[in-house]
Amino acid sequence: MAATTVQHFISLEDALYSLYGDGIRIAGVDRITGGDINQAYGLRLTDGTYIFMKTNEKQNISFFTCEAAGLDAIARTKAIGTPRILCSGTDEDRGGYSFLLLEFIRGGRQIAGYWETLAQQLAAMHRAPTEDFVSGGGYGFSHDNYIGARQQVNARHDSWIAFFRDCRLEPQFRHAEHFFGTSDRKKIIKLLDHLDKYLVEPERPSLLHGDLWSGNVMTGSDGSAWLIDPAVYVGHAEADIAMTELFGGFPRKFYAAYREAGFLPPGYCDRRELYNLYQLLNHLNMFGYMYLPSVNHIVRRYS
Ligand code: ADP
Repeated sequence: MAATTVQHFISLEDALYSLYGDGIRIAGVDRITGGDINQAYGLRLTDGTYIFMKTNEKQNISFFTCEAAGLDAIARTKAIGTPRILCSGTDEDRGGYSFLLLEFIRGGRQIAGYWETLAQQLAAMHRAPTEDFVSGGGYGFSHDNYIGARQQVNARHDSWIAFFRDCRLEPQFRHAEHFFGTSDRKKIIKLLDHLDKYLVEPERPSLLHGDLWSGNVMTGSDGSAWLIDPAVYVGHAEADIAMTELFGGFPRKFYAAYREAGFLPPGYCDRRELYNLYQLLNHLNMFGYMYLPSVNHIVRRYS
């Protein structure tokens, strides 16, 4: 994949000078809630510009370089809106922190057919060529990234099913081992050994958002849906759709429109929970026991 052109700075002041000219200052800061991992702010600059900033500890700068690379990958498909990437950087101030600056999404009135349009745009993203991200029609991504705060392994595989086993379920199960008793561990091994009983290879590989729940869809300045906070990789498009159904779901008209425009082969509903097992295991590993019953339910269903 061609390197992203996201500039990196060693202070927020340098970043703002480079973007908006010497002498620009921060005139006001608004705290923005809603994220799980990072701190988020709206920065009002002295020339009236308003931009979005995420921060984390300085050593977590790779959260932001990976997020920028993910937004860049989605933007390259030219299929769907994402905020413009301004830059990333680190700063020694306040004990040191890392930051990502993005266009501020102001939202606004949703266009007519908002959900149907999102479905069509997502289908277009899922149809876009993936050679820029993984060679030879494979699965994975040019580098590892993050799902929430946890590392997401993206080693290239020729088979989607092998990729989903080796790079998605297995690393999460390994990390969550202490949550399971002997009998459930046996079920997990059986499940991993027989994944090809349930999953199917896609007709073609697709670039996925990778963390597509409603909190990562915002209304952009054009009134259409824009995607934020991706955990991109090349995989089976239906894994993205499964994720939309995990925490509440999108309106029904979205699914009807995606079925017409996208890739939901027969049997999707029987595979949906397996895809979401990855996301639930990740939540189990990040947030603890409250996700164990949902994980166990899926493990028992498929083993
Ligand atoms: P985290 O990485 O901690 O999960 P998010 O990416 O979810 O953080 O961002 C936190 C909140 O900031 C979101 O709930 C969203 O409402 C808002 N947000 C994210 N990106 C932008 C943006 N570019 N412009 C305006 N608001 C944004």
